[in-house]
Amino acid sequence: MGKPKCNIFWFRRDLRIEDNAGLHSALNSDRPVLPLFLFDQNILKKLPTHDKRVDFIHQELTSIKKDLNLLGSDLLIYFGDPLVLWKKIVTEFDIGTVFTNEDYEPYAIKRDTQVEELLTSKKIGFQKYNDHCLFKKGEILKNDGKPYTVYTPFKRKCYELLEPKHLASFNCKKLEKNYLKTKTQKIMSLEEMGFEKTELVNETKTIKKKIVEFYDKQRDYPAINGTTHLGHHLRFGTISVRKCAQIGHKFNEVWLDEILWRDFFSQILYYFPHVIKGSFKPKYDNIKWLNNKKEFKLWCEGKTGYPLVDAGMRELNATGFMHNRVRMVTASFLVKHLLIDWKWGEAYFAEKLLDFDLSANNGNWQWVAGTGCDAAPYFRIFNPETQMKKFDKELQYVKKWVPEFGTDHYTKPIVDHKFAYNRALQTYKIGLN
Ligand code: FAD
Repeated sequence: MGKPKCNIFWFRRDLRIEDNAGLHSALNSDRPVLPLFLFDQNILKKLPTHDKRVDFIHQELTSIKKDLNLLGSDLLIYFGDPLVLWKKIVTEFDIGTVFTNEDYEPYAIKRDTQVEELLTSKKIGFQKYNDHCLFKKGEILKNDGKPYTVYTPFKRKCYELLEPKHLASFNCKKLEKNYLKTKTQKIMSLEEMGFEKTELVNETKTIKKKIVEFYDKQRDYPAINGTTHLGHHLRFGTISVRKCAQIGHKFNEVWLDEILWRDFFSQILYYFPHVIKGSFKPKYDNIKWLNNKKEFKLWCEGKTGYPLVDAGMRELNATGFMHNRVRMVTASFLVKHLLIDWKWGEAYFAEKLLDFDLSANNGNWQWVAGTGCDAAPYFRIFNPETQMKKFDKELQYVKKWVPEFGTDHYTKPIVDHKFAYNRALQTYKIGLN
């Protein structure tokens, strides 16, 4: 029997079979489509064995596999180094074209270049589509053709260029007869890849319209269920960004603005990959951080004696989520009050956040530290007490995560606010001179 003649669709950060740009093109192509996912060992080897994100991906793939099995097809899943795996895959199938969606991170770009070279050498096509962001790279540029580095004009241009096509869904369902009919294979277990099952609660990925409708009024209060908790679904593509944008466009543009922050930081990482290693503005790399390891540990554990900071860190450690307002306060506290390098905080969030995304995490950390593009000026320092009084007046959020708050068992502040405030200003000033 000859090798199956097919085109391949390679899933990465787009784990859904509905409204998927690259998959839609594959299903419209000249050959039946075999869907594929590669567990990338280069990424997985850096993660702890108990990782909710890996569990999440595994659960979502299991569900996609089930749906494809019902259609008589399958999702092929391999584990290893992508280039090595591709060398094997090209010998197993008679492939016309590999379809996939763009991944704009530097590691992914390098990986895709290598895979593309291999495929080209075998006379196999490689086609990439924009699916992860609302706008594809190069679509939103300044009039001089350069990328934006400030969010507000970027956003203005997005609204100026926004057309129905950006919000339209790709109807993959009507093409589902075009999957390759094949026998099903058992999915590799988490344990076989060196991971374990976690306590992850995989909630359904619905966009709650009521939350979006009241988003502008409620989003800043961590005790209220006022944000959508869709971060990880957008990160792994288990929900379509176009679907989100449709809802934002219809019900609340303040929420759509947040989706555009995501696009904004994605293009910053794409055009300025040096942000992975240091400050967007290089002169900020001269700041002399104190990097006190004991204080860093207290921050990680939520034991700083500042209730809103501690509540946020404990929420993160327990759930893998932290409310955006509190992310800003905890990050600012680490960088400004403790003078600890923002890259330490960035790395800790990267390890813990279920919705961790390199571009959003890096962009937001640099924003808070004042080192990034469109940064809040460094002399604007959050007062964690004032933030608590404003955004958690009834202390509902704080009491949920720091039950000992208000008793003798609660720790004293590890640093005095006024002292820390002046020290931060001084240190930044010296570093920038
Ligand atoms: P909603 O408020 O409902 O917003 C909807 C979606 O818009 C989010 O899911 C997210 O995809 C996007 N979004 C919202 N705010 C931002 C923003 N400021 N920047 C980029 N995208 C945004 N977000 C991440 O997705 N991954 C991260 O690793 C990440 N790290 C952060 C680190 C720091 C220090 C800070 C201050 C913020 C970080 N954010 C990150 C942004 C933001 O806090 C989260 O996107 C948001 O809290 C997720 O909650 P939600 O899904 O309820 O979002």
